[in-house]
Amino acid sequence: MLSVEEALQKILDEVDVLEAESVPILDTLGQVLAEDIKSDINVPPLDNAAMDGFAVRSEDTKGASEKTPRYLKVIDTVMAGSISKKEVVPGTAIRIMTGAPIPTGADSVVQFELTDEGKNKDNTKIGVLEEMRPGYNVRKAGEDIARGATVLKKGTVIRSSDIGLMASTGYSRVTVIRRPVVAIISTGNELVELGRPLPEGKIYDSNAYSIAGLVKKYGCFPKLLGITHDHEEELVNKIKQAQDADMLLTTGGVSMGDYDLVKDILARDHQMVFWQVKVKPGKPLAFGKIKGRDKSGRAKSLPHLGLPGNPVSCVVGFELFVRPALLKMMGKKNLDKPTVTAIMEERVTNDSGRRLYNRAIIEKRNGHYYARLTGPQGSGILTSMALANGLVLIPEGKTIKKGETVQALMLDWNEEVNI
Ligand code: AMP
Ligand code: MG
Repeated sequence: MLSVEEALQKILDEVDVLEAESVPILDTLGQVLAEDIKSDINVPPLDNAAMDGFAVRSEDTKGASEKTPRYLKVIDTVMAGSISKKEVVPGTAIRIMTGAPIPTGADSVVQFELTDEGKNKDNTKIGVLEEMRPGYNVRKAGEDIARGATVLKKGTVIRSSDIGLMASTGYSRVTVIRRPVVAIISTGNELVELGRPLPEGKIYDSNAYSIAGLVKKYGCFPKLLGITHDHEEELVNKIKQAQDADMLLTTGGVSMGDYDLVKDILARDHQMVFWQVKVKPGKPLAFGKIKGRDKSGRAKSLPHLGLPGNPVSCVVGFELFVRPALLKMMGKKNLDKPTVTAIMEERVTNDSGRRLYNRAIIEKRNGHYYARLTGPQGSGILTSMALANGLVLIPEGKTIKKGETVQALMLDWNEEVNI
């Protein structure tokens, strides 16, 4: 049976980075840039005021202090977005608002707080109460982005401030690696669609929803194809509906039971790469490639992960195996889940021959991370997953005593860091 690492490597070997497409910048959050973003303009375009105040010639303020104000004649007012037609000549000042271009002749801006603004009845002049040095409160043209500079490099994982950078350089669309479309099929005679009454012996299909939530979380498009019974023909036909997607996820039907048909169909009609991984929960996990044709009739091989039916196993299987595959398809390089070392607050035993991923609450106290389990850890207990913010790794055959450390995969940490 494959280890987690071996199984993941086999999956990653079989999935490719998708094509790039041009999209509006606001749709690019979390995606990978497929081009360098170069600026054709200076940002800011002109030297401008960093404070509300008066644009002055610094030499006119020599010797200025609270006791010895230097009085200047106010000859104009300039707001952000306008350009003053006047020139600041010796003995004059122009009232200026933050962001407004520095008028010709001025070399600094004295903020209102360093003038007698409001205290002087004669508003045709202003008293400056401190000496200015050249460049004071002046934001230089191009100090944020210089014309010709590469603002964002190809391969960057786009964050919200990056979208702001694209906007400030005038880009409304950019090319990014497109988001994968992930088809999701739930298998099981016991499953009922939401919105229907629940007959005796049946359960609602929750897997499709927890999995679709994860697909969205990692920036991809879920395509819910609904439920199929454990019926060969129905399943074969349903799988055909997934052909246009970039990945197929099924849940259920990969264990040892009499009606676990997913793995059988994968092995019989398509290509099974592996079945079963040394992981708990989630041993019965199948990976293969569905052979079919795309819209234009070309042969296509669709990656298929057959996730276990148990609600916790299928989520853990997604985090460990589907997530990195999707990130690779999106052009991302960092496929690792953020990890911390945490001190176990209770004893945990793993007497299985598989690596155990227990659901835990990880908390930071006094500079250390502590981990405690979220209660009963059965693979059917989805609440144990819902309460968790991390998964603690317990190696096969090991007991972790209270106070010993474990590695914890953090489920919801920000994963997008470019430097
Ligand atoms: P299976 O892997 O098909 O043997 O299913 C294992 C367990 O997971 C069974 O108890 C199923 O009822 C349950 N299960 C399978 N699919 C789903 C689903 N879509 N939603 C909720 N529970 C499921
Ligand atoms: Mg089943």
